[in-house]
Order: sequence, then structure tokens, then C-alpha cells
Amino acid sequence: SDHKLDYPLSPAHMDWASHFPAFVDPDENKRNEGGFRQLVKDVEVVDIGCGFGGLLAGLAPVLPDTLIVGMEIRISVLEYVTGRIQVLRAQSEQAQKTSSSTTSSPAPAQAQASSSATSPSPATAAPQSPSASSTAITAPVPGGYQNVSALRTNTMKFLPNFFAREQLSKIFICFPDPHFKARKHKARIVSPALNAEYAYVLRPGGLLYTITDVEDYHNWILKHFEKSAPVEDAAAAEKQEASDEREGNSDTGVKELWERVSDEELKDDPCVRIMSEETEESKKVTRNKGNKYVAVFRRKANPEWP
Ligand code: SAM
Repeated sequence: SDHKLDYPLSPAHMDWASHFPAFVDPDENKRNEGGFRQLVKDVEVVDIGCGFGGLLAGLAPVLPDTLIVGMEIRISVLEYVTGRIQVLRAQSEQAQKTSSSTTSSPAPAQAQASSSATSPSPATAAPQSPSASSTAITAPVPGGYQNVSALRTNTMKFLPNFFAREQLSKIFICFPDPHFKARKHKARIVSPALNAEYAYVLRPGGLLYTITDVEDYHNWILKHFEKSAPVEDAAAAEKQEASDEREGNSDTGVKELWERVSDEELKDDPCVRIMSEETEESKKVTRNKGNKYVAVFRRKANPEWP
């Protein structure tokens, strides 16, 4: 439960140094308000509900200079992904050493090494140990997986404890738990209140990526991000809006901060391919020949106050 979740008092109190040791500022005197060593750069990319870490492993070599963190609420899953990253880092370091001792010009890295390194069992089963499933990385990988890490938290409650205003350039929400029943919709990780938080931590121009295999959830996402999303059941929508308004959970205003990114623009974005093919859930959907619905939203500039 939440009282067991460790979270920083504020972003300035977060210990990022233990997550990204390769990016710690060499000046020992540079400390944040929590007394922790500072990094030479901020974490910029977040995978919300990262599961077994397929997206992290896929993104790491594609964005080697960007610090990426996965956030996951389940203890066993977090342990698995942490172990997986350790294995990837160690293998990558070994490959780097081997390559520099055998040749003076190392072969370029293969991003595919990341996805073949582990293949977790289904999300419900206890995951197999990452070290037991290693298909060794043989060529150096850009960034050597030093740029990815994962931590345990409930993102629905603590996101602003970890990230300052406009700190992030990308947020990923891949195959969120669907919570099918209407009375469970408040447990969904996309909602007016949470979208306001995502807009707070994402910088103008930053992107929020979503993918789901549940069409109803995709429509829910569009409804909560797009001003002009089509409404199927007008009466139900009106009722919902009235209840949102009563609960102070209205979309009004929040949607002004988002615009959908066109398919044309997304076709050259490697992140879309990675989230569609390399997360564990996306692989499961592919095996089951399910549909995948992608929607990406750009955080617009802050509105001018009159
Ligand atoms: N994104 C991964 C993928 O595509 O393979 C995992 C998808 S899985 C269906 C959803 C994940 O979100 C689960 O691992 C779950 O534990 C996690 N999750 C659900 N609610 C969360 C929350 N409030 N904070 C952090 N993680 C959460």
C-alpha cells in the first residue's frame, strides 16, 4: 500500500544518483536539497506503468544521451525490471571491453540486443530471473543502458514529487490497465486530473505517447485529450461531464494544452515502433493478433494570460 511507497518530498529531494551513476556530476559538492549527488542532466523521459521494461530496453540505445525512467507499482515487476537493467548494463560493459581489446574501431551497436536479452513470462506469472535468460549482447550498445532505470511508485499519486514543472520531454503510457467497468473508470491512468499533471511535468513541445489494444480505452483517451473528439453516446457524455464538473474533475481548460500529432509526423518516429513492438504487452497483443491503437499528443505552449 502507499505508506510503503518511498517518494521524495519534492523533485529537488530525489536520489537520482543511485539510478544513473554514470551521469553523476564529478563535483562532489554539488548536492540537491535531499543531500544527494547531482546529475549532469535531468531525467527527461518517463514510462508510466513500465511493466517488465521492454520499452526502456528498446528506447535506451535509440536515445542514448537521454535519461529515461520507468515507473511501476508492483514490487515483483519492479524487481524484475531492475535486474534486467543490471544485466543489460553488465553485458554491454563486457561487450565494450571485448570490442576495445580486439579492435580499435568498435562495431556499431545493435539495438535488437536489448529485446533478445530477456523474454519475460506472461505478466501474471512470476517473471523468470533476467540473468537466467540472457542472450548475451555481443556488440557495444550506445549508452550501454546507463541511461535507463526504473523505480517503484504509484504515478497516479506521486508524479509531481519526482518531476519539476516542464522537466519532461516525453511521457509513455503503453497498454494501461483497461479497468473496463464504468465504476472502475476512475482508476484509469488517463483522466482530466491526471492529464493536468502530465501537462504540468511535460514541457511545451513535449510528447505524450499512448497505445492500447482496447478500442474503448483509445476512445476514452481521445475524449480526454482532444477538444473535438467524437462523442458516441451524447446523453452519457453529458451526464459524465456534469459529474466531472461537480467533482472538480472537469476537462475544461486541460484539453486546450494538448494537440494530437498527425500519423504523417509519427511515421518517422522510432519511439512509435518501439512502443508498438517491444513492450511485453505489445508482443502479447501481436501473438493474439489483436489491434493496437496509437495516439500521441503534443503539449502546446502555455496560454497567454490576459
Ligand atoms: N507498459 C507495459 C507494457 O506495455 O508491456 C506494461 C503494461 S501492463 C498492462 C500495465 C502496468 O501498469 C502494470 O505493470 C501495472 O502494475 C502498472 N501500473 C498500474 N497502475 C499503476 C500506477 N498507478 N503507478 C505505476 N504503475 C502502475
